Amino acid sequence: MDTKAFKRSLHSSENYHRKGFGHEAEVTTQLESEYQSNLIQEIRNHNYRLQRGDVTIRLAEAFGFCWGVERAVAMAYETRQHFPNERIWVTNEIIHNPSVNQRLVDMNVGFIPVEQGEKNFSVVDSGDVVILPAFGASVQEMQLLNDKQCKIVDTTCPWVSKVWNTVEKHKKKDYTSIIHGKYKHEETIATSSFAGKYLIVLNIKEAEYVAEYILKGGDCNEFMAKFSRATSPEFDPDQDLERVGIANQTTMLKSETEQIGKLFERTMMKKYGPDQLNNHFHSFNTICDATQERQDAMLGLVEEKLDLMVVIGGFNSSNTTQLQQIAIDRGIPSYHIDSAERIGSGNRLEHKPLGGDLIVIENWLPAGEIVVGVTSGASTPDKVVEDVIEKIFELKGAVAVV
Ligand code: SF4
Repeated sequence: MDTKAFKRSLHSSENYHRKGFGHEAEVTTQLESEYQSNLIQEIRNHNYRLQRGDVTIRLAEAFGFCWGVERAVAMAYETRQHFPNERIWVTNEIIHNPSVNQRLVDMNVGFIPVEQGEKNFSVVDSGDVVILPAFGASVQEMQLLNDKQCKIVDTTCPWVSKVWNTVEKHKKKDYTSIIHGKYKHEETIATSSFAGKYLIVLNIKEAEYVAEYILKGGDCNEFMAKFSRATSPEFDPDQDLERVGIANQTTMLKSETEQIGKLFERTMMKKYGPDQLNNHFHSFNTICDATQERQDAMLGLVEEKLDLMVVIGGFNSSNTTQLQQIAIDRGIPSYHIDSAERIGSGNRLEHKPLGGDLIVIENWLPAGEIVVGVTSGASTPDKVVEDVIEKIFELKGAVAVV
C-alpha cells in the first residue's frame, strides 16, 4: 500500500478530524477538576519536596501527564461533547492509565473488543465515531475504519507522527528501518505499519547481535528465529541490512536509543568506510521531549539519598517501565504501581517488579525516618500521584496538610 498517499487522502476527508471541536474551555475545566491536585501543586511550589512526620517525599522535577497525553484525553472529552448521540469507540486504551480509561467508559465510550488476541472491528458501524489514541493506530486499522465510513478522531501525538514520517523516508530510499521498541507495543505496531522493510530491536543487546551479523554474517535461520515477530514480511538479514535507518518507540530509554544509533553508525562506517556512511546509514532525532525530560529528572532524583522509589503508571506503559529501570540500575528499592489501591493497610503493597508479574510484599515501608522518591509516567494524572502520597503518609501515621 502507498501509505503516504493513503494518509494524504485520509487527512483531506471530511470524516477525519485531528484538531479539537471548539469545546476547549469546558473540557479544560473538567479535566482540571478530575485530574489535577492541589497537593501536587503545593509540592511543586516547595521545590518538589514535602515532609510530614517521618516521611519526606521527593518528587521528580518532571513527571506525569505529558502534553501529548493531555491533548489526547482532551480531544476524547471534546469528541463526547461534540457527538452526544453517536456511538464512540477507541481503537485501544486512549492512554495507558486505568483511571482515565475507566472515565471514558463511564462517558459511554467503548473500547474495540479483543478476541483471541485480535481486535474485533465488526462492532463498529458506518457513521460511528472512532478515536485513535495518543500512540496512534496502524495504517491498516485506519484504512478499515475509513472504508467503513466512520468518523475518525485522530489524537496521535505529533511526536509519534514524526517517527512515522521518518520510517516513510527510509522506505522511500529503500533503507531498512531499525526500530528501537517493543514489537507488541501499539505504538511500534503502528510505526512498523508505515515502514517498508523493518527490524525491531528491544535493547542494545539485540542491536549488538544485529551489528555483529552485519559485520561478520552468521546463521540466517538463527537470526530469523530470534526476530521472528519483529521483522517485516520476507525479511532477509543477508539482503536487508545493507542500508539502515534508525527509528524508535518514543517512550524507550533515551540513552539506549542513542547508543543503538551510534552502534549502527559505527558498524556501517566500519563495513563500508566513512565516505560511504551516508549511503548506508540514516538517523534523525525522534526522541520525544517529554520522555527525555522525565528520564532526565529521574536521573537527577536517583543521585539523592532515597530509601525507596515509587514509580506510578499503567503496567503496560513503556515510559513508566523505563523510569523504573533507572531506579533499579542504581540499586534503589523501587516499586511500580498503577494506583493508590495497590497500597494496602498493614504495610502491604501489591507491585509489579520489572519484567515480572504482580506480587504482594509486606513491610515495604521501613520504620523510622524515610525519604521516598516519587515519579510517574506520562499517562498518569496528578490526582493519582496525590492519592499514592496520601496513602504513604497515612501508613506512616503522618497527615498530609496543604
Ligand atoms: S510521551 Fe511523548 S510521544 Fe508519547 S504522547 Fe507524550 S509527548 Fe507524545
